[in-house]
Amino acid sequence: MKTSDILLGKLNTEFKTVSAMIEIYCKKNHHTHSLCPECQTLMDYAEIRLDRCPYGENKPTCNTCPIHCYKPEPKEQMRLVMRFSGPRMLLKHPILAIRHLLSEKRTVNPKPSPHCSNRHIRLQKREK
Ligand SMILES: [Zn+2]
Repeated sequence: MKTSDILLGKLNTEFKTVSAMIEIYCKKNHHTHSLCPECQTLMDYAEIRLDRCPYGENKPTCNTCPIHCYKPEPKEQMRLVMRFSGPRMLLKHPILAIRHLLSEKRTVNPKPSPHCSNRHIRLQKREK
């Protein structure tokens, strides 16, 4: 499980969840101690997508989101990671897993409010 240096609040929790899932997947499927380059690239990509998500901290879970921001290739990789690691998360990281399952039940705002992406807030803070 990793934490991000740039993501705030709930987005960082989401990054912890996704990074834990990628780690489980890589360890069992690519048989490495640390992340293989391919999975590291996917994790970096996930961090950038979270940073730029227009919903910011109100982000719905990715599978309930009306915006599909992943490119086809990482999207497919992530689908495999989720399918493999999803059930295993309950054992390894139960709090993160349950939190994620609960947020899947929340109703999704079809349109994000303007200027609430992590990136926007982060860059604005730096200007002050
Ligand atoms: Zn890997």
